[in-house]
Amino acid sequence: MSDIYDLHCHSTASDGVLSPTELVQRASQHGVTHLSLTDHDTTQGLAEAQATADANGIHLINGIELSTNWQNHCFHIVGLGIDPLNPTLAAGIRNLQLIRTERAEQIAAKLAKNRIPGALAAVKEIAGTGMITRTHFADFLLSQRHVSTQQEAFDRYLGSGKPAYVSTTWAELKDAVSWITEADGVAVLAHPLRYKLTASRLRRLLTSFKDAGGQSMEIVTGRTNPDEIRRTSLFASQFQLAGSVGSDFHNPANVWVELGRLAPLPKQIQPVWELLH
Ligand code: AMP
Ligand code: MN
Ligand code: MN
Ligand code: MN
Repeated sequence: MSDIYDLHCHSTASDGVLSPTELVQRASQHGVTHLSLTDHDTTQGLAEAQATADANGIHLINGIELSTNWQNHCFHIVGLGIDPLNPTLAAGIRNLQLIRTERAEQIAAKLAKNRIPGALAAVKEIAGTGMITRTHFADFLLSQRHVSTQQEAFDRYLGSGKPAYVSTTWAELKDAVSWITEADGVAVLAHPLRYKLTASRLRRLLTSFKDAGGQSMEIVTGRTNPDEIRRTSLFASQFQLAGSVGSDFHNPANVWVELGRLAPLPKQIQPVWELLH
């Protein structure tokens, strides 16, 4: 049986719908042999995922998706093969969690000003012990029928420039990359085309990322098409970055994205798993 990698997905430890156990079981059912759980700014789900992975004979790679800033814009950096107990990484994550808590309060205050009260208590309830993300606010807005889809919640309230948008200072990208490296992990630029950068700006970002110790970028994600794979591969080759593959799975209700359902990496690209030890 051939190896199937999926190195980017979310559980209830952040904005995924499935618990770590349910996620690993679903990955196993879909033939995934190597899975990385990469929740937003938390490693909280990894222990449970590991126990289920052991029981199902699937390889779990410890992961995280860090919220970072480069030139005042938000970029996501996935860390693969990290030691979650590394003190530098753990301290960095704790700080991001404080930032998330404060930001949630600010988003709720902005919603209240727009005659939508009660958001903070509601998202705390939905998120439970997991990280509070904008996805939770979107689900709250949906449940209160202020919007009729998650996308509409971002388009009308939560997205950049909208009434409940809070511009957030996360970790500096170079610091986040160094935490990952210190924790024996490989830093991967997540979904590089989602930031809608010009080619020259993407090259500057990749230059900073490489200088900081970044080693890989995502090439195949749950929704990339062949043209996007070709474009990102050109950047990876130019910057000598390994390629990663990850569905960014959050929710089984999204029929477009499934665990392990990913196009193969182009032959000329070095797979990121060759860098993991
Ligand atoms: P946060 O990190 O709290 O800003 O939340 C970001 C998360 O919201 C992302 O990881 C996505 O899962 C989700 N998200 C961001 N933009 C959208 C969008 N336009 N539509 C649906 N979900 C989105
Ligand atoms: Mn998410
Ligand atoms: Mn992301
Ligand atoms: Mn993600």
